[in-house]
Amino acid sequence: MTIQLEKQSIATDKNEVLLGKSLEQLTAWVQQRGQPAYRGKQLHQWLYEKGARSLGEISVFPKQWRETLADYPIYRSTIHYRSIASDKTRKYLLRLADGLIIETVGIPTFKRGGDKETGGQGDWGTINPKSLERLTVCVSSQVGCPMACDFCATGKGGFIRNLKSHEIVDQVLTVQEDFRQRVTNGVFMGMGEPLLNLNEVVAAVHCLNRDVGIGQRSLTISTVGIPNKIRQLAQHHLQVTLAVSLHASNQRLRERLIPSAKHYTLDNLIDDCREYVRITGRRVTFEYILLAGTNDLPEHALELAKLLRGFQTHVNLIPYNPIQEVDYQRPDRQRIEAFADILRQKRIAVSVRYSRGLEADAACGQLRASKV
Ligand code: SAH
Repeated sequence: MTIQLEKQSIATDKNEVLLGKSLEQLTAWVQQRGQPAYRGKQLHQWLYEKGARSLGEISVFPKQWRETLADYPIYRSTIHYRSIASDKTRKYLLRLADGLIIETVGIPTFKRGGDKETGGQGDWGTINPKSLERLTVCVSSQVGCPMACDFCATGKGGFIRNLKSHEIVDQVLTVQEDFRQRVTNGVFMGMGEPLLNLNEVVAAVHCLNRDVGIGQRSLTISTVGIPNKIRQLAQHHLQVTLAVSLHASNQRLRERLIPSAKHYTLDNLIDDCREYVRITGRRVTFEYILLAGTNDLPEHALELAKLLRGFQTHVNLIPYNPIQEVDYQRPDRQRIEAFADILRQKRIAVSVRYSRGLEADAACGQLRASKV
């Protein structure tokens, strides 16, 4: 009886969020309203493929029913502002239903020799799908961030709130609609610390995979490392890649750059990463921001190689992207390559991630919601 009552109250709750629900859940939702099961499939298609912003738009629904649903909120964000860099990376400021602003980035990767030409309205025109290799979306998982890493713009503004899974899914749909291309990859590298919002992030991963059609292996969760959370994430047995923001080759240096590192030693962090690999069979990659004179010396590269010895991994070097509040410098190319070479000599797979979207302030660490 109680269960029945609960179901009733959910069914009549106007604010039940549909975005994020599976085909089965949407089918149950329409059936609770006396509609045939196939309307669930229609609803699913309109939410995830057609990007419906209100149920009133769903023209395949019978007129009378549609009218009763017209005010039902879908909780899609609106584009408050967008900018484009010369490499065609687009940065968005999205306004959430409660008025808060988050950032999302759409990063197209063009095929070798593939033209970047867009049809129609210049830079913002439609990209020729044949020239596109990937379309990656960089999503936020929180409004702001509580981690306060010294080199990161997001942390400077503090933390406001966690995002709900549908607000994460919405970011992907928004980029998909704006580019008029399917998103193929997703990285949780926007604002926020995903492992502090683990349940919503995991729910978003399931929805992106199941309903939006992005392979789990094409999704990456990036974390600075939160005690116990890497092991908790492993228990979900996702096929996503875990990227860990290491940024330092020893504990002392890491604590200087990342205040939360005090509560999570490098040894414990690396142990948890090994456990993640053991449980999920998936790779862990490490991100290492390069700050000239601070963590980019040959001795740091040697120390890093030692720390990661025996770990089947990949190190992504990220040359620092400048932000206003701190005066770190980006090392020159020669130094970056020298650092990478030392790691290679020590048999550590390494790549340098030259940032995308720099002029749009859309590169790693440059995201902040206060612009405009
Ligand atoms: N909180 C998560 C995800 C968000 S940041 C994390 O820390 O991993 C995504 C990546 O951008 C992280 O590796 C982060 O350390 C890096 N980053 C932050 N500020 C940066 C900057 N100014 N230049 C280059 N990379 C930066």
